[in-house]
Order: sequence, then structure tokens, then C-alpha cells
Amino acid sequence: MEGTLLRTEAHRVELDGTIKGELELECDRCGKPYRERLELPLLLHLSDRPLPIGEDLDTVEFLDGTIDIERLLESEITAYRSEYHYCPKCRAEDREIDLEY
Ligand SMILES: [Zn+2]
Repeated sequence: MEGTLLRTEAHRVELDGTIKGELELECDRCGKPYRERLELPLLLHLSDRPLPIGEDLDTVEFLDGTIDIERLLESEITAYRSEYHYCPKCRAEDREIDLEY
């Protein structure tokens, strides 16, 4: 994880970073596990005050004054995992099929 924390307003912090690492994923096409090098851009807005109703949902509250980065990263990675992923082999095959059109 690389990134910067910027205080944008008195009670607002912006986290601008990149999640880097390797993730074990299962291919949604052939079902085989493979490792994916992960480089996920991350932009989060954080607030240490309860948010007014109607505030955009991208903002994360951290009311006790500490930002639980680990938990934030985990939820980002979980979201990433729940998307569709093809292993490099299937991706290459897809590309070949595309070329025939
Ligand atoms: Zn595959």
C-alpha cells in the first residue's frame, strides 16, 4: 500500500493511494486458481465527524479518531475479488477470439 493522506478540511481527510500486492484469485472462466499482481488505485474520503444525511457514500467515518486502514483495504480487496476475473490464459484466448471478428 502506497499513498498519501491529505487533510482537505478540518474534519476531512483524503486518502489517495494504490494497493499493491499479489492476490490469489480463481478464474471465472476455467475455474483455476491463479495469482494476480494487484495494483488497485484507491481514493477514499474520510471524516472524523458523523456525516450529515445525504452526504456522498464514498466518505468513510472514523469517529474514534483512528483510521483503520487495514479494514479499509480488506473491504476494497473483497470488492475486487467479487468482480469477474479471467486468468492470463483465458484472457489471451479471449483476445484471439476477438481478433477473428
Ligand atoms: Zn482461466
